[in-house]
Amino acid sequence: MILVFCDSKGGKLKPSAREAVSGAHKLAQMLSTDVVAVTFTECSDAATLGALGAKKVIQLTNPELAQYSSEGYAQAAAEVIKANSPQAVVLSASAQGKDFAPRLSARVNAPLLTDCTDLKVDGNAVCALRPIYAGKVLLWAKVTGPFCILSLRPKAFLPVEVGGSTEVTSTSVALDASKIRAKIVEEKMQEGGMVDVTEADVVVSAGRGMKGPENWNLIEDLAKSLGASIGASRAVVDAGWRPHHEQVGQTGKVVAPSLYVAVGISGAIQHVAGMSTSRTIVAINKDADAPIFKLATYGIVGDAFEVLPKLTEEIKKVKSE
Ligand SMILES: Cc1cc2nc3c(=O)[nH]c(=O)nc-3n(C[C@H](O)[C@H](O)[C@H](O)COP(=O)(O)OP(=O)(O)OC[C@H]3O[C@@H](n4cnc5c(N)ncnc54)[C@H](O)[C@@H]3O)c2cc1C
Repeated sequence: MILVFCDSKGGKLKPSAREAVSGAHKLAQMLSTDVVAVTFTECSDAATLGALGAKKVIQLTNPELAQYSSEGYAQAAAEVIKANSPQAVVLSASAQGKDFAPRLSARVNAPLLTDCTDLKVDGNAVCALRPIYAGKVLLWAKVTGPFCILSLRPKAFLPVEVGGSTEVTSTSVALDASKIRAKIVEEKMQEGGMVDVTEADVVVSAGRGMKGPENWNLIEDLAKSLGASIGASRAVVDAGWRPHHEQVGQTGKVVAPSLYVAVGISGAIQHVAGMSTSRTIVAINKDADAPIFKLATYGIVGDAFEVLPKLTEEIKKVKSE
């Protein structure tokens, strides 16, 4: 059996949970086994995981899990693992997954393969494709032990409907609340109400080529026409032109959207580390030799100040047809 720990918020599954269940289903088919999904709180849409291949959904009801905490989630997940003896555990390499997976790995003494972008099986051994050296190299890692934890890069696995229904049960696990030493006391929504870049299907990112923060209206217009979230290079975040939560890259966020538009971004290795697994990359840069073009699916060599208004206008036209 493959166990999947699902991200949720406000009693609903997060998109990353659906991606994790689909990734787990892909692996389960290769291992001829079933997928069991686990939610840390009760979710009104838990039953929808059946269509993605989960045979069963276990919802945890402990009040201590109502708010996320890495110690609480790791404890609870370890208990579920102990009770089910899965062949593998899958979760999203979301901010939450990145936070509690290492603690869980230490707790259950299992290898953790982080940020996987593909999975396969060699004999009966689980293999995971992972970016290393800041995304410069992709490496297939083979698990030699009997059990492993796999965190999947957000957006690397798309939710795939395979049909089927699921049995949803609710239960509590034994938790030692005194061991949950760090608690979330307040959550603040980031301004703008835009989907976070790590969850967005389309991201428009811009860099120093935009010359100054006063020109971001061009980026906002393009993003709006595409229904995209806005990202940024570190150079413009360091310059104070854009907020840090928009930074994409090695020291920012890792994104893998269907479409990534890089405007006035040179394509330094540290930026590429955060976006190289995007499905389609469009680069707009006035320097034909900019490294970003080596990676781009489509490249526009030109001045962003001339290209952006025209591109936005054309997209608006196509969308209104
Ligand atoms: C330890 C470390 C970690 C780092 N982490 C990150 C990270 O997480 N994310 C990140 O992004 N960077 C990171 N960096 C910084 C990285 O090395 C680059 O300095 C940075 O990505 C450059 O940002 P940029 O592409 O916006 O600027 P530049 O490299 O200055 O590129 C600007 C580009 O705009 C183009 N341009 C100029 N004018 C126009 C115009 N009118 N129209 C179109 N194009 C134009 C230029 O041709 C150029 O290619 C890190 C660096 C280090 C050392």
